[in-house]
Amino acid sequence: MPAEQHTNIKVAVRVRPYNSRELENHNQRCIVKVMDRSALLFDPDEEDDEFFFQGTKQHYRDITKKMNKKLTMDFDRVFDIDNTNQDLFEECTAPLVDAVLNGYNCSVFVYGATGAGKTFTMLGSEACPGLTFLTMRDLFEKIQMQNDVRKFDVGVSYLEVYNEQVMNLLTKTGPMKLREDANGVVVSGLRLTPIYSAEELLKMLALGNSNRTQHPTDANAESSRSHAIFQVHIRITERKTDTKRTVKLSMIDLAGSERAASTKGIGVRFKEGASINKSLLALGNCINKLADGLKHIPYRDSNLTRILKDSLGGNCRTLMVANVSMSSLTYEDTYNTLKYASRAKKIRTTLKQNVLKSKMPTEFYVKKIDEVVGENERL
Ligand code: ADP
Ligand code: MG
Repeated sequence: MPAEQHTNIKVAVRVRPYNSRELENHNQRCIVKVMDRSALLFDPDEEDDEFFFQGTKQHYRDITKKMNKKLTMDFDRVFDIDNTNQDLFEECTAPLVDAVLNGYNCSVFVYGATGAGKTFTMLGSEACPGLTFLTMRDLFEKIQMQNDVRKFDVGVSYLEVYNEQVMNLLTKTGPMKLREDANGVVVSGLRLTPIYSAEELLKMLALGNSNRTQHPTDANAESSRSHAIFQVHIRITERKTDTKRTVKLSMIDLAGSERAASTKGIGVRFKEGASINKSLLALGNCINKLADGLKHIPYRDSNLTRILKDSLGGNCRTLMVANVSMSSLTYEDTYNTLKYASRAKKIRTTLKQNVLKSKMPTEFYVKKIDEVVGENERL
Protein backbone atom coordinates (compact mmCIF):
# COMPACT_ATOMS: atom_id res chain seq x y z
CA MET A 1 0.00 0.00 0.00
CA PRO A 2 1.57 3.33 -0.97
CA ALA A 3 2.33 5.60 1.94
CA GLU A 4 0.06 8.62 2.07
CA GLN A 5 0.83 12.17 3.03
CA HIS A 6 -0.84 12.81 6.37
CA THR A 7 -0.88 15.66 8.75
CA ASN A 8 0.42 13.45 11.45
CA ILE A 9 1.37 16.13 13.89
CA LYS A 10 -1.54 17.62 15.76
CA VAL A 11 -1.08 20.76 17.75
CA ALA A 12 -3.36 21.67 20.63
CA VAL A 13 -3.16 24.79 22.76
CA ARG A 14 -4.13 24.60 26.40
CA VAL A 15 -4.89 27.76 28.32
CA ARG A 16 -4.64 27.59 32.09
CA PRO A 17 -6.53 29.77 34.59
CA TYR A 18 -4.87 32.56 36.57
CA ASN A 19 -2.62 31.47 39.40
CA SER A 20 -2.69 33.32 42.71
CA ARG A 21 0.16 35.66 41.74
CA GLU A 22 -1.64 36.62 38.55
CA LEU A 23 -4.88 37.16 40.43
CA GLU A 24 -3.18 39.43 42.96
CA ASN A 25 -1.70 41.54 40.19
CA HIS A 26 -5.11 42.42 38.84
CA ASN A 27 -4.40 41.79 35.21
CA GLN A 28 -6.41 40.81 32.18
CA ARG A 29 -6.70 37.97 29.74
CA CYS A 30 -4.40 38.04 26.75
CA ILE A 31 -5.71 34.97 25.01
CA VAL A 32 -9.19 33.84 24.09
CA LYS A 33 -10.37 30.66 22.45
CA VAL A 34 -12.40 31.23 19.33
CA MET A 35 -14.58 28.45 18.00
CA ASP A 36 -12.55 25.49 19.27
CA ARG A 37 -9.64 25.77 16.85
CA SER A 38 -8.34 29.32 17.00
CA ALA A 39 -6.60 31.37 19.62
CA LEU A 40 -6.92 35.10 19.66
CA LEU A 41 -3.99 36.81 21.29
CA PHE A 42 -3.76 40.46 22.17
CA ASP A 43 -0.99 42.56 23.55
CA PRO A 44 -2.10 44.10 26.85
CA ASP A 45 0.19 47.10 26.31
CA GLU A 46 -1.76 48.04 23.23
CA GLU A 47 -5.23 47.52 24.63
CA ASP A 48 -7.25 50.27 26.26
CA ASP A 49 -10.08 48.19 27.64
CA GLU A 50 -10.54 44.68 28.84
CA PHE A 51 -11.25 42.62 25.77
CA PHE A 52 -14.45 40.66 25.68
CA PHE A 53 -15.14 38.21 22.90
CA GLN A 54 -18.85 37.70 22.34
CA GLY A 55 -18.42 34.20 20.94
CA THR A 56 -20.26 34.70 17.66
CA LYS A 57 -18.91 34.18 14.17
CA GLN A 58 -19.86 37.71 13.20
CA HIS A 59 -17.98 39.24 16.12
CA TYR A 60 -14.98 37.11 15.27
CA ARG A 61 -15.03 38.36 11.66
CA ASP A 62 -15.43 41.95 12.84
CA ILE A 63 -12.59 41.91 15.29
CA THR A 64 -10.10 40.10 13.11
CA LYS A 65 -10.84 42.52 10.28
CA LYS A 66 -10.80 45.63 12.40
CA MET A 67 -7.91 45.05 14.71
CA ASN A 68 -4.81 43.79 13.02
CA LYS A 69 -2.81 44.24 16.18
CA LYS A 70 -4.74 41.30 17.55
CA LEU A 71 -3.37 38.02 16.38
CA THR A 72 -5.36 34.93 15.58
CA MET A 73 -3.64 31.61 15.10
CA ASP A 74 -5.23 28.35 14.07
CA PHE A 75 -4.48 25.01 15.66
CA ASP A 76 -6.09 21.60 15.65
CA ARG A 77 -7.78 22.37 18.93
CA VAL A 78 -7.71 25.02 21.61
CA PHE A 79 -8.58 23.97 25.16
CA ASP A 80 -9.71 26.73 27.46
CA ILE A 81 -9.51 27.17 31.22
CA ASP A 82 -12.60 25.05 31.87
CA ASN A 83 -11.29 22.02 29.99
CA THR A 84 -10.02 19.08 32.01
CA ASN A 85 -7.25 16.55 31.46
CA GLN A 86 -10.03 14.09 30.68
CA ASP A 87 -11.15 16.34 27.79
CA LEU A 88 -7.63 16.42 26.40
CA PHE A 89 -7.35 12.67 26.76
CA GLU A 90 -10.63 11.96 24.99
CA GLU A 91 -9.99 14.27 22.09
CA CYS A 92 -6.25 13.99 21.65
CA THR A 93 -4.62 10.93 23.14
CA ALA A 94 -7.33 8.23 23.06
CA PRO A 95 -7.04 8.23 19.22
CA LEU A 96 -3.28 7.81 19.60
CA VAL A 97 -3.76 4.65 21.66
CA ASP A 98 -5.73 3.19 18.75
CA ALA A 99 -2.99 4.28 16.36
CA VAL A 100 -0.28 2.65 18.49
CA LEU A 101 -2.18 -0.62 18.56
CA ASN A 102 -2.54 -0.39 14.79
CA GLY A 103 1.23 -0.23 14.45
CA TYR A 104 2.14 3.46 14.43
CA ASN A 105 4.72 5.08 16.66
CA CYS A 106 3.06 7.89 18.58
CA SER A 107 4.30 10.63 20.81
CA VAL A 108 2.85 13.35 22.94
CA PHE A 109 4.83 16.27 24.14
CA VAL A 110 4.01 19.28 26.23
CA TYR A 111 5.70 22.55 25.45
CA GLY A 112 5.59 25.94 27.15
CA ALA A 113 7.18 28.28 29.65
CA THR A 114 7.74 27.25 33.25
CA GLY A 115 4.46 27.48 35.13
CA ALA A 116 2.34 27.27 31.98
CA GLY A 117 0.86 23.87 32.89
CA LYS A 118 3.00 21.23 31.18
CA THR A 119 3.35 18.95 34.18
CA PHE A 120 -0.26 19.53 35.16
CA THR A 121 -1.25 18.35 31.68
CA MET A 122 1.12 15.39 31.54
CA LEU A 123 1.09 14.13 35.12
CA GLY A 124 -1.76 15.98 36.77
CA SER A 125 -2.53 15.21 40.39
CA GLU A 126 -4.29 12.45 42.26
CA ALA A 127 -7.56 14.35 42.04
CA CYS A 128 -7.08 15.18 38.40
CA PRO A 129 -4.87 12.59 36.70
CA GLY A 130 -2.89 13.75 33.71
CA LEU A 131 -2.58 12.51 30.15
CA THR A 132 0.03 9.87 30.97
CA PHE A 133 -2.18 8.15 33.55
CA LEU A 134 -5.32 8.34 31.42
CA THR A 135 -3.55 7.21 28.28
CA MET A 136 -1.75 4.28 29.92
CA ARG A 137 -4.93 3.05 31.57
CA ASP A 138 -6.69 3.16 28.21
CA LEU A 139 -3.78 1.39 26.52
CA PHE A 140 -3.98 -1.55 28.91
CA GLU A 141 -7.77 -1.75 28.70
CA LYS A 142 -7.46 -2.03 24.93
CA ILE A 143 -4.64 -4.53 25.20
CA GLN A 144 -6.85 -6.72 27.42
CA MET A 145 -9.66 -6.55 24.90
CA GLN A 146 -7.41 -7.74 22.06
CA ASN A 147 -5.56 -10.38 24.02
CA ASP A 148 -7.30 -13.31 22.31
CA VAL A 149 -6.03 -12.44 18.87
CA ARG A 150 -2.77 -10.69 19.67
CA LYS A 151 0.01 -11.12 22.17
CA PHE A 152 1.53 -8.00 23.66
CA ASP A 153 4.96 -7.62 25.23
CA VAL A 154 5.27 -4.28 26.93
CA GLY A 155 8.42 -2.63 28.23
CA VAL A 156 8.99 0.83 29.59
CA SER A 157 11.85 3.31 29.80
CA TYR A 158 11.98 6.73 31.44
CA LEU A 159 14.82 9.07 30.55
CA GLU A 160 15.74 12.56 31.60
CA VAL A 161 17.82 14.97 29.56
CA TYR A 162 19.39 17.44 31.93
CA ASN A 163 22.26 19.71 30.85
CA GLU A 164 22.57 17.57 27.71
CA GLN A 165 23.18 14.48 29.85
CA VAL A 166 20.87 11.52 29.49
CA MET A 167 19.93 9.85 32.77
CA ASN A 168 17.87 6.72 33.32
CA LEU A 169 15.14 7.75 35.76
CA LEU A 170 14.09 4.17 36.53
CA THR A 171 17.52 2.95 37.61
CA LYS A 172 18.93 6.37 38.61
CA THR A 173 21.98 5.70 36.45
CA GLY A 174 23.81 7.66 33.81
CA PRO A 175 24.90 9.64 31.98
CA MET A 176 24.02 7.28 29.17
CA LYS A 177 25.57 7.44 25.75
CA LEU A 178 23.60 7.68 22.56
CA ARG A 179 24.76 5.92 19.45
CA GLU A 180 23.37 5.49 16.03
CA ASP A 181 22.97 2.18 14.27
CA ALA A 182 20.98 0.95 11.30
CA ASN A 183 17.80 1.07 13.36
CA GLY A 184 18.14 4.65 14.50
CA VAL A 185 19.35 6.22 17.70
CA VAL A 186 19.96 3.77 20.51
CA VAL A 187 20.56 4.62 24.15
CA SER A 188 23.54 2.44 25.04
CA GLY A 189 22.83 -0.04 27.79
CA LEU A 190 19.19 0.92 28.16
CA ARG A 191 17.11 -1.95 29.46
CA LEU A 192 13.39 -1.91 29.22
CA THR A 193 11.44 -2.78 32.32
CA PRO A 194 8.79 -5.36 31.40
CA ILE A 195 5.26 -4.39 32.33
CA TYR A 196 2.15 -6.52 32.70
CA SER A 197 -0.50 -4.06 33.83
CA ALA A 198 -1.40 -0.38 33.86
CA GLU A 199 -0.71 -0.33 37.62
CA GLU A 200 2.85 -1.52 37.10
CA LEU A 201 3.37 1.04 34.38
CA LEU A 202 2.13 3.83 36.60
CA LYS A 203 4.35 2.62 39.43
CA MET A 204 7.31 3.01 37.08
CA LEU A 205 6.12 6.49 36.19
CA ALA A 206 5.96 7.44 39.87
CA LEU A 207 9.38 5.91 40.54
CA GLY A 208 10.90 7.88 37.67
CA ASN A 209 9.23 11.09 38.79
CA SER A 210 10.69 10.75 42.25
CA ASN A 211 14.12 10.59 40.60
CA ARG A 212 13.66 13.70 38.45
CA THR A 213 16.06 16.57 38.87
CA GLN A 214 14.03 19.40 40.30
CA HIS A 215 15.27 22.84 41.11
CA PRO A 216 13.32 25.88 42.15
CA THR A 217 13.79 28.93 39.93
CA ASP A 218 12.61 32.49 40.26
CA ALA A 219 9.75 31.83 37.91
CA ASN A 220 8.23 28.81 39.64
CA ALA A 221 9.32 26.88 42.70
CA GLU A 222 7.90 23.65 41.32
CA SER A 223 9.55 23.90 37.98
CA SER A 224 11.70 21.28 36.45
CA ARG A 225 14.66 22.28 34.33
CA SER A 226 14.93 18.94 32.62
CA HIS A 227 13.20 17.13 29.78
CA ALA A 228 11.49 13.88 30.82
CA ILE A 229 10.86 11.18 28.22
CA PHE A 230 8.56 8.31 29.22
CA GLN A 231 8.41 5.61 26.55
CA VAL A 232 6.29 2.50 26.29
CA HIS A 233 7.62 -0.08 23.83
CA ILE A 234 5.13 -2.68 22.68
CA ARG A 235 5.79 -5.78 20.64
CA ILE A 236 2.58 -6.95 19.03
CA THR A 237 2.38 -10.54 17.81
CA GLU A 238 -0.62 -11.60 15.73
CA ARG A 239 -1.47 -15.01 17.17
CA LYS A 240 -2.81 -16.38 13.87
CA THR A 241 0.02 -15.42 11.54
CA ASP A 242 2.84 -14.81 14.02
CA THR A 243 3.43 -11.42 12.37
CA LYS A 244 5.31 -9.15 14.73
CA ARG A 245 5.69 -5.43 14.95
CA THR A 246 7.23 -3.18 17.53
CA VAL A 247 5.74 0.20 18.30
CA LYS A 248 6.49 2.96 20.72
CA LEU A 249 4.36 5.46 22.61
CA SER A 250 6.34 8.39 24.01
CA MET A 251 5.18 11.00 26.51
CA ILE A 252 7.56 13.93 26.79
CA ASP A 253 7.43 16.65 29.45
CA LEU A 254 9.75 19.34 28.11
CA ALA A 255 11.61 21.81 30.28
CA GLY A 256 10.47 25.42 30.40
CA SER A 257 10.76 27.22 27.09
CA GLU A 258 11.41 30.69 28.55
CA ARG A 259 14.70 32.27 27.66
CA ALA A 260 17.62 31.70 30.01
CA ALA A 261 17.91 35.46 30.38
CA SER A 262 14.55 35.68 32.12
CA THR A 263 15.54 33.37 34.95
CA LYS A 264 17.88 35.26 37.20
CA GLY A 265 20.19 32.34 37.80
CA ILE A 266 23.91 32.30 38.14
CA GLY A 267 26.41 29.43 38.18
CA VAL A 268 24.83 26.01 37.90
CA ARG A 269 21.37 27.38 37.37
CA PHE A 270 22.61 29.56 34.53
CA LYS A 271 24.26 26.59 32.84
CA GLU A 272 21.01 24.67 33.09
CA GLY A 273 19.18 27.50 31.38
CA ALA A 274 21.75 27.62 28.61
CA SER A 275 21.55 23.87 27.96
CA ILE A 276 17.79 23.81 28.00
CA ASN A 277 17.87 26.50 25.41
CA LYS A 278 20.30 24.51 23.33
CA SER A 279 17.96 21.50 23.33
CA LEU A 280 14.82 23.51 22.73
CA LEU A 281 16.54 25.56 20.09
CA ALA A 282 17.54 22.37 18.32
CA LEU A 283 13.98 21.09 18.64
CA GLY A 284 12.71 24.38 17.18
CA ASN A 285 15.16 24.12 14.28
CA CYS A 286 14.02 20.58 13.54
CA ILE A 287 10.40 21.69 13.65
CA ASN A 288 11.09 24.58 11.28
CA LYS A 289 12.92 22.38 8.80
CA LEU A 290 10.25 19.67 8.94
CA ALA A 291 7.58 22.33 8.43
CA ASP A 292 9.43 23.62 5.37
CA GLY A 293 9.59 20.09 3.99
CA LEU A 294 13.40 20.03 3.93
CA LYS A 295 15.26 16.75 3.67
CA HIS A 296 18.10 17.37 6.08
CA ILE A 297 16.76 17.70 9.62
CA PRO A 298 19.39 18.61 12.24
CA TYR A 299 18.38 15.99 14.82
CA ARG A 300 22.03 15.56 15.77
CA ASP A 301 22.30 19.04 17.26
CA SER A 302 21.18 18.04 20.75
CA ASN A 303 20.55 14.92 22.75
CA LEU A 304 16.89 15.76 23.10
CA THR A 305 16.41 15.85 19.32
CA ARG A 306 18.49 12.72 18.83
CA ILE A 307 16.21 10.81 21.21
CA LEU A 308 13.12 12.38 19.64
CA LYS A 309 14.26 11.67 16.10
CA ASP A 310 11.58 9.06 15.53
CA SER A 311 9.00 11.00 17.54
CA LEU A 312 8.97 14.03 15.31
CA GLY A 313 8.40 13.57 11.65
CA GLY A 314 9.50 10.20 10.37
CA ASN A 315 7.26 7.29 11.09
CA CYS A 316 5.36 8.81 13.96
CA ARG A 317 2.11 10.44 14.94
CA THR A 318 2.74 13.35 17.19
CA LEU A 319 0.61 15.47 19.47
CA MET A 320 2.04 18.69 20.75
CA VAL A 321 0.24 20.46 23.57
CA ALA A 322 1.32 24.08 23.80
CA ASN A 323 0.64 25.27 27.33
CA VAL A 324 0.01 28.93 28.08
CA SER A 325 -1.48 31.04 30.85
CA MET A 326 -4.51 33.22 30.18
CA SER A 327 -2.82 36.10 31.98
CA SER A 328 -1.45 39.16 30.25
CA LEU A 329 1.53 39.01 32.64
CA THR A 330 2.91 36.19 30.52
CA TYR A 331 2.06 37.72 27.16
CA GLU A 332 5.57 37.36 25.76
CA ASP A 333 5.88 33.68 26.70
CA THR A 334 2.42 33.02 25.33
CA TYR A 335 3.25 34.73 22.06
CA ASN A 336 6.51 32.76 21.69
CA THR A 337 4.83 29.46 22.58
CA LEU A 338 2.04 29.96 20.06
CA LYS A 339 4.51 30.93 17.36
CA TYR A 340 6.55 27.81 18.04
CA ALA A 341 3.41 25.69 18.05
CA SER A 342 2.04 27.14 14.84
CA ARG A 343 5.29 26.23 13.08
CA ALA A 344 4.90 22.67 14.30
CA LYS A 345 1.42 22.52 12.86
CA LYS A 346 2.82 22.87 9.36
CA ILE A 347 4.74 19.60 9.53
CA ARG A 348 3.58 16.95 7.11
CA THR A 349 5.29 13.61 7.10
CA THR A 350 4.84 10.23 5.57
CA LEU A 351 3.25 7.68 7.82
CA LYS A 352 4.07 4.02 7.57
CA GLN A 353 2.80 1.22 9.72
CA ASN A 354 5.52 -0.66 11.56
CA VAL A 355 5.48 -4.20 10.26
CA LEU A 356 8.36 -6.47 11.23
CA LYS A 357 11.02 -3.94 10.34
CA SER A 358 10.90 -1.47 13.16
CA LYS A 359 13.23 0.95 14.86
CA MET A 360 13.54 -1.37 17.82
CA PRO A 361 14.70 -4.73 16.43
CA THR A 362 12.53 -7.54 17.69
CA GLU A 363 15.44 -9.75 18.69
CA PHE A 364 17.09 -6.99 20.65
CA TYR A 365 13.82 -6.25 22.34
CA VAL A 366 13.18 -9.86 23.34
CA LYS A 367 16.66 -10.25 24.70
CA LYS A 368 16.47 -7.12 26.76
CA ILE A 369 13.03 -7.95 28.05
CA ASP A 370 14.12 -11.45 29.04
CA GLU A 371 17.24 -10.16 30.72
CA VAL A 372 15.24 -7.72 32.76
CA VAL A 373 12.59 -10.27 33.61
CA GLY A 374 15.38 -12.45 34.96
CA GLU A 375 16.82 -9.61 36.96
CA ASN A 376 13.50 -8.62 38.40
CA GLU A 377 12.79 -12.15 39.53
CA ARG A 378 16.00 -12.15 41.50
CA LEU A 379 15.02 -8.99 43.35
P1 ADP B 1 4.98 23.63 34.18
O1 ADP B 1 5.15 22.16 34.29
O2 ADP B 1 4.66 24.07 32.78
O3 ADP B 1 6.12 24.40 34.75
P2 ADP B 1 2.85 23.23 36.05
O4 ADP B 1 2.12 22.15 35.35
O5 ADP B 1 3.72 22.84 37.18
O6 ADP B 1 3.71 24.09 35.01
O7 ADP B 1 1.77 24.31 36.49
C1 ADP B 1 2.06 25.41 37.35
C2 ADP B 1 0.94 25.56 38.37
O8 ADP B 1 -0.29 25.84 37.72
C3 ADP B 1 0.70 24.30 39.16
O9 ADP B 1 0.42 24.67 40.50
C4 ADP B 1 -0.51 23.68 38.51
O10 ADP B 1 -1.25 22.90 39.42
C5 ADP B 1 -1.29 24.87 38.02
N1 ADP B 1 -2.02 24.57 36.78
C6 ADP B 1 -1.47 24.35 35.58
N2 ADP B 1 -2.40 24.12 34.64
C7 ADP B 1 -3.59 24.18 35.26
C8 ADP B 1 -4.97 24.03 34.85
N3 ADP B 1 -5.30 23.77 33.56
N4 ADP B 1 -5.92 24.17 35.77
C9 ADP B 1 -5.62 24.44 37.05
N5 ADP B 1 -4.36 24.60 37.52
C10 ADP B 1 -3.34 24.47 36.65
MG1 MG C 1 6.83 21.06 34.94
